[in-house]
Amino acid sequence: MLCLLSIVFFFAVGGQLVLSLPDVIRIGGLFHPADDRQEVAFKYAVDRINADRTILPRSRLTAQIERISPQDSFHASKRVCHLLKTGVAAIFGPQSPQTASHVQSICDTMEIPHLETRWDFRLRRESCLVNLYPHPRAISKAYVDLVKAWGWKSFTIIYETNEGLVRLQELLKAHGPSEFPIAVRQLGEGPDYRPLLKQIKNSAESHIVLDCSTEKIYDVLKQAQQIGMMSDYHSYLITSLDLHTVDLEEFKYGGTNITAFRLVDPERADVIKVMKDWAYGSESRFGRKPDGAQLTRKDNSTFVKTETALMYDAVHLFAKALHDLDSSQRIDIKPLNCDAADTWPHGYSLINYMKVVEMRGLTGVIKFDNQGFRSSFVLDIVELGREGLKQIGTWNSTQGVNFTRTFGETYTQIVESLHNKTLVVTLILSSPYCMRKDSSEQLSGNDQFEGYAIDLIEEISKILGFNYTFKLVPDGRYGSLNRETKEWDGMMRELLDQRADLAIADLTITYDREQAVDFTMPFMNLGISILYRKPIKQPPNLFSFLSPLSLDVWIYMATAYLGVSVLLFILARFTPYEWQNPHPCNPSPDHLENQFTLLNCLWFAIGSLMQQGCDFLPKAVSTRMVAGMWWFFTLIMISSYTANLAAFLTVERMDSPIESAEDLAKQTKIKYGALRGGSTAAFFRDSNFSTYQRMWSFMESARPSVFATSNTEGVDRVVRGKGSYAFLMESTSIEYVIERNCELTQVGGLLDSKGYGIAMPPNSPYRTAISGAVLKLQEEGKLHILKTRWWKEKRGGGSCRDDTSKSSSAANELGLANVGGVFVVLLGGMGVACVIAVAEFVWKSRKVAVEERPSSLCAEMAYELRHAINCSGSTRPVTRRRHSRPQPPPPPGGLPLEVDVCGQHFIPLSPYSQHGYVSSNQIKDPLV
Ligand code: GLU
Repeated sequence: MLCLLSIVFFFAVGGQLVLSLPDVIRIGGLFHPADDRQEVAFKYAVDRINADRTILPRSRLTAQIERISPQDSFHASKRVCHLLKTGVAAIFGPQSPQTASHVQSICDTMEIPHLETRWDFRLRRESCLVNLYPHPRAISKAYVDLVKAWGWKSFTIIYETNEGLVRLQELLKAHGPSEFPIAVRQLGEGPDYRPLLKQIKNSAESHIVLDCSTEKIYDVLKQAQQIGMMSDYHSYLITSLDLHTVDLEEFKYGGTNITAFRLVDPERADVIKVMKDWAYGSESRFGRKPDGAQLTRKDNSTFVKTETALMYDAVHLFAKALHDLDSSQRIDIKPLNCDAADTWPHGYSLINYMKVVEMRGLTGVIKFDNQGFRSSFVLDIVELGREGLKQIGTWNSTQGVNFTRTFGETYTQIVESLHNKTLVVTLILSSPYCMRKDSSEQLSGNDQFEGYAIDLIEEISKILGFNYTFKLVPDGRYGSLNRETKEWDGMMRELLDQRADLAIADLTITYDREQAVDFTMPFMNLGISILYRKPIKQPPNLFSFLSPLSLDVWIYMATAYLGVSVLLFILARFTPYEWQNPHPCNPSPDHLENQFTLLNCLWFAIGSLMQQGCDFLPKAVSTRMVAGMWWFFTLIMISSYTANLAAFLTVERMDSPIESAEDLAKQTKIKYGALRGGSTAAFFRDSNFSTYQRMWSFMESARPSVFATSNTEGVDRVVRGKGSYAFLMESTSIEYVIERNCELTQVGGLLDSKGYGIAMPPNSPYRTAISGAVLKLQEEGKLHILKTRWWKEKRGGGSCRDDTSKSSSAANELGLANVGGVFVVLLGGMGVACVIAVAEFVWKSRKVAVEERPSSLCAEMAYELRHAINCSGSTRPVTRRRHSRPQPPPPPGGLPLEVDVCGQHFIPLSPYSQHGYVSSNQIKDPLV
């Protein structure tokens, strides 16, 4: 019967075995007077549980509240003992560390569950303690993950108490010794934090991790704003989980990146519901009058402090564990005396139940690890925007940071924030990027300047909708790092000190600069080259017709010519087929003749080489072989020579002492330098390449200094130096100069390859947007149009183009200077021919005078000369030998006898031979 009753009762309570829990379960709460929200949350949670009959169906919770001072641990122990005497099932609170540890030790002794909701760095694992606050190490890891996800290279930690440092321990540990140094500074007593903030500002640090009590956040941020540390470039990571309870209204439009984690999402439906109940449930709860109005989001945020929500969750966790424990054993709650060695037998069981229970509360899923810590939880990442704090991602212990905001959303937000903003743009005077306008009127403000950079920023501002004001860099420098002081100068300094938002110029993107500031995509690509005076034109070489073949080849050809001639002579003598009958009419001649005398061989070979041929040809196979090969050789040689000749006759020889950086490095006569404090000088200073190192030492040691304070000064030095100075300059600037100054030119190629970018202070939110605008302009061809405008059109562009075209058209015409050598050779040849003719004349006359006519040499020469200069005809009398063969008697009629080619006498029939004269034609032609 009893068994049956039990079964009926079991089903009556919803299928759960409920062993009798007492009707009234007392729970004790220890609160500090200033902590009224904790108390309200505690009471409200008790009310909710009592109202919801599903949690503890047959029992009612009663809240026993004790108010204690946060410092007075003695009083706290007394109140705990008092609570225990009334018979409580658990103790909640207190929040202060001083009192909490005493309460904890009493609870441990009495085996009463102690529920805490506060951050406790001591990571206690006491048997009776259940702390719902997320595990400190896990929270610390969240900060590390976020800082890593952002890629912060350096940052400053501002902490308030030593506990704060413990909270950031993981962050300090994660930052390796090889990385950038991080600064750690204590906030101080306050309320004036400005001196500290100023120091941080002077250190140019823009990433700040702020760890202070929630109450102080507003003051710190406000004072940071007052000293100018709440700009677009500053980022704050606030470690408090209660940033949503701080009034951030004044910081919403500053553009500063303020980010924090939160455990409670005040916009979650169940949280809103609890908040509404809370607000309307009783006037006293938050000290406000319920006016019946809807609870606003702002109200919501300011109500839900993490520790308050945790208290609410703690009471629910306790109730759930009690309910679960009740299903397994009978529980009774008895008063305990601190002075006696009494313990509560169900204490441990209840604690164990609490640690295995998994439930969802206001602070998300409540779950404990095997050590009893709440290490698995989800944090929202919130960022301050124009609409207040907005969730941009989540963090959990397994996956780390997960940003939920898309790139598009971020981009839109940045572009919106840029709208109608006025950015300060730092400039440097450098043609054609930024130049003062030529005007008769006094110009002021942005109107004073013009150039490529000015047009570029105008185009970008049209795309992104911002305004800008120009400011010339005070020291007129681009920016270089002083290795000793580690300080930047020039435009870089302006950006780092946040006196300018953008630097637009021919500012080269270098590794050092990229470490210090942010650069956009490059808008122009270039490299270092040499600016020097144009090489002087050399007059063409008189004998340039010899240039197509090298001296070696000419020598080889001459040798081949002689060799072939001699070989032909030898082979012709050797082969029987070259020996011929000198009188074809005489079938049995006394002797044979060989036409290939040495002189004939030389004549034959030169005739072939000149492609002219000659009137005798080889007959034997061997000599023909020699001739054939020689002809082949001459064919190839002459063709090659002809092909190369045109180039050598037309090419202009330039006299340039340097053709590359290596040439510069090798000599010391021509001085060379670069812009002081620019990236070109830095390139040589930092180069590991020996030639450039040598060049840098030369430049550094040169006296007077070879460095220029501006590109214009460098160019002037090259012009004035007339070949004694070369300026190492960036190719785009060289292009601009040589387009206008025709005396100058670029020597050699590019020594490196880099680009110009728009620079902005580190951590600038505008980088992506401005980079996007630069890319857009590039794709639309606007950058090209700008370049053409400022390089080729404006301010005297194209002045040197006429020169170039003139010289290129003149290149096709050959002047006398080019071919003069050929005339010289011709004249020389003619002269030599005349000398030889005179020699032949004298030689022949002497021979005739001695051998044929008994006359003097002079008489004979005069006789011969008379015939030679007689212009009346091309015939002359034959000179007779003195001791010739006996002449046959003259035929009747007195006609002289003639001698034919075979040596026979005959009577000429031709009228030409009537007077004893024989024309040379007649003698040659045997048929006549
Ligand atoms: N563009 C260089 C710079 O950013 C300046 C010119 C140069 O060094 O040749 O420093």
